[in-house]
Amino acid sequence: MKALIADAINEKGIENLKEVADVVVDTSITPEELLETIGEYDGIIVRSRTKLPAETIAKADNLKIIARAGVGVDNIDVNAATEKGIMVVNAPESTSITVAEHTMGLILSAVRKIAIADESTKAGKWEKKRFMGMELKDKTLGVIGMGRIGSQVVNRCKAFQMDAIAYDPYLPADVAKQMGVELLDSKEELLKRADIITIHVPLTPETKHSISTAEFEIMKDTAFIFNCARGGIIDEDALYDALKEGKIGGAGLDVYEEEPAKENKLFELDNIVCTPHIAASTKEAQRDAAIIVADEMIDLFQGKMPKNIINMPRMDNSGFEDANDYLKVCDKLGSFLSQSTKGAIKELEIVYSGEIAELPNQELFTRTVLQGLLNPISDSGVNAVNARNIAKGRGIDITEAKNDNDKGYGSLVKLTAKTDEGEFSVIGTYLHEPTIININGYRVDVKPEGDMFIAKYKDVPGSIGAIGTKLGEYNVNVGIMQVGRDIQGGNAIMVLTLDNEAPKEALEEIKALSNVEDATSLKL
Ligand code: NAD
Repeated sequence: MKALIADAINEKGIENLKEVADVVVDTSITPEELLETIGEYDGIIVRSRTKLPAETIAKADNLKIIARAGVGVDNIDVNAATEKGIMVVNAPESTSITVAEHTMGLILSAVRKIAIADESTKAGKWEKKRFMGMELKDKTLGVIGMGRIGSQVVNRCKAFQMDAIAYDPYLPADVAKQMGVELLDSKEELLKRADIITIHVPLTPETKHSISTAEFEIMKDTAFIFNCARGGIIDEDALYDALKEGKIGGAGLDVYEEEPAKENKLFELDNIVCTPHIAASTKEAQRDAAIIVADEMIDLFQGKMPKNIINMPRMDNSGFEDANDYLKVCDKLGSFLSQSTKGAIKELEIVYSGEIAELPNQELFTRTVLQGLLNPISDSGVNAVNARNIAKGRGIDITEAKNDNDKGYGSLVKLTAKTDEGEFSVIGTYLHEPTIININGYRVDVKPEGDMFIAKYKDVPGSIGAIGTKLGEYNVNVGIMQVGRDIQGGNAIMVLTLDNEAPKEALEEIKALSNVEDATSLKL
């Protein structure tokens, strides 16, 4: 096997790889040279300097693996790699400790006013009285997002004798218990109770501006908030007002709504500590990334399956012509279920019926369901290869069954999720496009695509109109409407395809309507 190291990586990774492959290190290779020579290699390791666009990948006739020594894969055309059957791997866990430590740095710097005290002391002011701090011992840490980084921050804060509470609706309670945190049902409760709030969630439509004016209102006026995740999760205008008006004690940011953040009104304030998106920048993180991806490449060269694969080479499902259509169905059903289910999913049952059930195994379909299910709540590239591991890590118990009752549709896929709040189910098929034919026992005919809205309500005169009117008040146009009910006057469900996204305020007002039990907006 022949491997190219195209960007500077830690020596240890190179050493390991040399034991199993001929390694060429050329960290100044130009795009033109790479285009010429890529066909010679079985594997390539890059960081962010080297770009692998579709035209380069098209020439990579022997390439089996592209390894990104880091996290983001923006410099690699992953779709082109997938098309060509090339595995793309990265090292998402390589920066977790480093980012957690940086978060601790911001916390200490903010609560003990270290950054501004440094500036003042070096200016010869010796302002001992100005910098009264706050001790962390016995204070409550509130973590929003208990994934790789959030859990490492908890570990570190425990050494400071802090109590830890967390909000992560996708984390099962027993996993949280093992991590030693009290898992809360509502973000609001966390915001009320926490002295130190730290954010470790991906930036998604759900998390964007999820900390804004209303959230600052309910925090303690001594609370501190930190964001080392992604800019845009905290509404910076609202943060500015909260800091300026003393609604909270202070803040620390490594990430900003606009980067590079060379001008930002937050920089005028002295109760905020700021760093330029460097939370992941340590030599150790870079070393670990190199070792992790070199090991992944070694595994593949030795016939083992790497762990952090972020794409999935095409698979042959000969005998079932509609396989690709049903992969789309599985992805959409998973995503629909994940966004419409309340509470953390503990059990997922997948039932295949009809032709799809006749295939010798449904593994790729199951993995695609999991990919759809996990992608809306993660930004770490869940795909058909790594989805099972990620689901297992989240404590989701998966069962699969097959039967021949296709109800005349040819093939059906039924997903049932169990959470602490109940059971949620969805059945889908392919009718020219992915189609949902049943939601929680209600018959529907829904194309899961774009902005959608789902509401449970009482089947009484005026309910449908009231929901439509509220959406209209917020300028949201309904494209397609589907309703289903159990009995006349009983419980009913409404699924809407919208021309534009329903704002949070519209959703809250709809939920408050007297005949509406619940409402959720979805992005498919
Ligand atoms: P992760 O996927 O391991 O964890 C994210 C957690 O957030 C998951 O447990 C998920 O269930 C939870 N979550 C998702 N949506 C949520 C919501 N609406 N409310 C509450 N919880 C929710 O990710 P990670 O590796 O821990 O990374 C966390 C964040 O840190 C990501 O945004 C990542 O991009 C960012 N990051 C920043 C830097 C930096 O340089 N500042 C470096 C690495 C990672």
